[in-house]
Amino acid sequence: MRSPTRTRSDMKTNEKVTRILIVDRDRPDAALIDCAASIIRRGGLVAFPTETVYGLGANASDPRAVAAIFEAKGRPSYNPLIVHVSDLEMAWSCVSNPPAVFERLAPRFWPGPLTLVASRSDRIAANVSAGLATVAVRMPANAVARALVEHSGVPIAAPSANRSNRVSPTTAEHVLKDLNGLIDAVLDGGPCALGVESTVLDLTGSIPAILRPGPISAQAIEAELGFAIRDFEPLDSSREQAFKKSDHQEQLIDVGRGDIAMKSPGTSAVHYAPRTRATRIEAERIGSIEWTGRVGLLVLGDHPIDLLLERTDRREVPAVRIDLRDPVAAAEAFYRTLHEFDELALDEIVIVLPPDRREWLAVRDRASRAARPYQIKT
Ligand code: AMP
Ligand code: MG
Repeated sequence: MRSPTRTRSDMKTNEKVTRILIVDRDRPDAALIDCAASIIRRGGLVAFPTETVYGLGANASDPRAVAAIFEAKGRPSYNPLIVHVSDLEMAWSCVSNPPAVFERLAPRFWPGPLTLVASRSDRIAANVSAGLATVAVRMPANAVARALVEHSGVPIAAPSANRSNRVSPTTAEHVLKDLNGLIDAVLDGGPCALGVESTVLDLTGSIPAILRPGPISAQAIEAELGFAIRDFEPLDSSREQAFKKSDHQEQLIDVGRGDIAMKSPGTSAVHYAPRTRATRIEAERIGSIEWTGRVGLLVLGDHPIDLLLERTDRREVPAVRIDLRDPVAAAEAFYRTLHEFDELALDEIVIVLPPDRREWLAVRDRASRAARPYQIKT
């Protein structure tokens, strides 16, 4: 049997011993939650499960604790964090003068994977928002996350619990792979239910605008509001151009989408990349793949796979082929599969993009940011 509190350290590069607190996903042990909450109150870092991905949390009112998140992740200081709350009252304390749509959407979609951006209150440290006057807030549905915020008694700023630009973690093991020894504790509540980050909705303009597509769709928000909002605009061809001009990932991080990139810096080009070289290709171009080395093929979407492979010069893929046919299941499995592929010492991961349809928007977006366009050799 696994013991509920294990401790473990990595002797090589790390300074801290990261405590692993194993809790039940639906009914977390109050003593372990209290232990994690006291770390938060003391200004420490605790990773915890949400229904989307694992978050790396710190007290959102404490600028030093927040700075430690950026340091542990190696996250650029211009990329703001989402603040997690346990009830509506706490949410109101994080924002100043929330617009009427905020008060309408919060009770309807919370707890759940919708993040609302509004004016930031003084309760929230400025570095949470990377200097912006706004703050992104959400109430997670996961019982462990809610209990942690509630027991801490403070709003918790938490980005995904991975090193910057790496694949988001959907299990405690993924978190430890990146952050063991760099954080104080991880609450291990098992795998995340949704597996793709929350929808981010900007409420500071005259029309609500989706800055990051996610599990809650524009249609669902429009159905509640009774009027049209600005849907997410996918990566455009000018960004593909920018990829082609340079092969160096770091230089690509800032190739943004104009206004949205400035409003929501985390939406920059390459963001969720695995360590293995990863490329993406539209399904109809699969015939152009050159099968050199061990290639993992990750097929997203309801493409007729056999027809797809017939367009190539082979029936079998050198290493692994995974088909994720349904948008919800694909979102849940996408990062997990990338983590698994990353362990296989492949030469390349080729992601076949899902169809360009609304229900695939969030998955297409994450896939586009995990991988650069497949370079077709001419
Ligand atoms: P992560 O939790 O790592 O997935 O990143 C959180 C993302 O939320 C950021 O990268 C931004 O895209 C978005 N975000 C957080 N705060 C704000 C804000 N104040 N305004 C707009 N977008 C935000
Ligand atoms: Mg992230």
